[in-house]
Amino acid sequence: MTPFNMTKEAVDSFWGKMKVGGTSECWEWQGSKDAFGYGTCNITHQSGTKRAHRVAFILTFGEIPEGIWVCHKCDNPGCANPHHMFLGTPAMNNLDRDRKGRHKTLCGEEHWSQKKPHLIRRGERHWTRFKEARRVKGDEHWSRKRPEKCRRGDIHPMALLTSSQVLEVRKMVSEGVNDCAIGRKYKVNRATIRAIRVGKTWKHLS
Ligand SMILES: [Zn+2]
Repeated sequence: MTPFNMTKEAVDSFWGKMKVGGTSECWEWQGSKDAFGYGTCNITHQSGTKRAHRVAFILTFGEIPEGIWVCHKCDNPGCANPHHMFLGTPAMNNLDRDRKGRHKTLCGEEHWSQKKPHLIRRGERHWTRFKEARRVKGDEHWSRKRPEKCRRGDIHPMALLTSSQVLEVRKMVSEGVNDCAIGRKYKVNRATIRAIRVGKTWKHLS
């Protein structure tokens, strides 16, 4: 069975969408591209949009586990030559990027959202507006149905503080210590302390 249950025609049509050349050359994707310049394709009706270089890699070398990235050796996001790819984790990809000296956060006018504002879906174009029915809220929301799956407080992957520290923070707040000073003590930003103070974060902790 071919990956993604693609028919032979689908596979042929996929390879037909790039300029296949020698293994050392970049095979430029001729189809649509996303905001980051990666080729995108809909290989089957069910699959949804996939990144072309990932599909090319899987078709050539076989399946890869979820969560593993297909990264470009050539740094050309529009290239789909599977021989220009290597497998990595997000962390490895970041390392590679640092090593290549691309560790530069694009901001302001350099940021993709400034260059291609039509790609940002806000307001009326946001899916929550036109697919209101698909939005699961209230008691139907997964966090209500399976509260044990909800990672709050200490087990939240982004938690900067522990719950006992938060209690200490609250105590200091009640004693009138300012956010900056508390933040310095726990080596977090004052905004983190403010969020605790106004009850935006850690509200489940009483
Ligand atoms: Zn390439």
